[in-house]
Amino acid sequence: TEAMKAEGQRAYELDRKHVFHSWSAQDALDPLTVVKTEGSFVWDADGKRYIDFSSQMVNTNIGHQHPKVVAAIQEQAATIATIAPAHVSAPRSEAARLIAERAPEGMNHVFFTNGGADANEHAIRMARLHTGKSKVLSAYRSYHGGTDLAVNVTGDPRRFASDTATHGTVHFMPCYPYRSYFHAETEEEEVQRALEHLEQTIVLEGPETIAALILESVPGTAGIYVPPEGYMAGVRELTKKYGIIFIADEVMSGFGRTGTWFAIDLWNVTPDLITFAKGVNSGYVPLGGVVINEAIYNTFRERVYPGGLTYSGHPLATAAAVAAIEAMEEEQMLENATRLASEVIGPELERLKNEHPSVGDVRGVGCFWAVELVTNRDTKEPLAAYGGSSPAMGEVIGKCKELGLLVFANFNRIHVVPPLNTSDDIMREGLALLDQALALADRHYQG
Ligand code: PLP
Repeated sequence: TEAMKAEGQRAYELDRKHVFHSWSAQDALDPLTVVKTEGSFVWDADGKRYIDFSSQMVNTNIGHQHPKVVAAIQEQAATIATIAPAHVSAPRSEAARLIAERAPEGMNHVFFTNGGADANEHAIRMARLHTGKSKVLSAYRSYHGGTDLAVNVTGDPRRFASDTATHGTVHFMPCYPYRSYFHAETEEEEVQRALEHLEQTIVLEGPETIAALILESVPGTAGIYVPPEGYMAGVRELTKKYGIIFIADEVMSGFGRTGTWFAIDLWNVTPDLITFAKGVNSGYVPLGGVVINEAIYNTFRERVYPGGLTYSGHPLATAAAVAAIEAMEEEQMLENATRLASEVIGPELERLKNEHPSVGDVRGVGCFWAVELVTNRDTKEPLAAYGGSSPAMGEVIGKCKELGLLVFANFNRIHVVPPLNTSDDIMREGLALLDQALALADRHYQG
């Protein structure tokens, strides 16, 4: 409508005048103005509809404006809109129960934060206090958040600007079969060699100095490279052997994204700490947290935990989590994510790989998929260099947008990460648009 258009125009002008955007050179921006969202769709100020294959920041696992969650937030706002963390609050208690019930056996306590980065900060603090050690190991090609320590354990170029003090962080090579750092030709070789490399890193760094190892159960922004069978179990074994706390970062992979409550459930591995955010309440109100095992909980039974936040377990955020988890269960969204993977997303992406030479690799699980674009399938030369963009990637992303498809892109990859309750029809419609856009990538193919 005309009113929406005018409102959108005003919002855009004020944004450019007063809003400072994340991770960006401010002048290079031309952000999309969103005036309406619903389910798997968003609309811009001109009334144009987009299929949301990004779930925004891979957080709207239940889609936009889910009525049950919106109502829960409204009801909570009308009763107790805010409360200090020291007081008992029903939505916080219920959310903690629902999360603990879904976490692996023996992980029964939840510390709530405002998002993913501070969840990782607190998990590392707990690990350091529990072990009395300080170093933290993490993988290259990872993302753990934008705050000082979280960005230092991060293994992508966003770290570089903030690593003047590295806080005892050490990076190791990930298990990434498509671009193996270990010259592996099979997944078995990759797993075995990646674990050998990790063990050598631990030995050479000195296990007596290492408090924690933090690892995304399925690395997200870094490329959705699902670890093959055996890797996570191997990481669990090594961390046990050397007295290192294993932190599974499930900020992006948790709460149904992979078709299970936590991605680590895919391998029946139990870490010491799990960090979460995003999908826990689909980001309707900011929320994150740490799920804590008994041993670490016991450390803080009599000893004070030196950490906290004004909004730890905020009632609007935790009421949204309760409703979101219930909605996911009632509407069988995890099952739908798994079904979509095997019946629609997996087969369709395989087809795109067969039809487009520029598609070097497709991989994923649940509603968590990556399409890796290359200019040559033999050399695997990426369509945009590591850490950067390219005109070719810009063309593909621009074409998606023009066609009405919002995608999550990183370097040379397009991620297909829709809400878990996306219908088959919308899923197929979006994949057909991606198919069209990939024709532009093929033009840059040099194989
Ligand atoms: N960890 C992972 C795996 C993430 O994907 C993200 C965000 O994308 C974070 C941590 C940081 O979460 P937040 O942006 O809520 O601080």
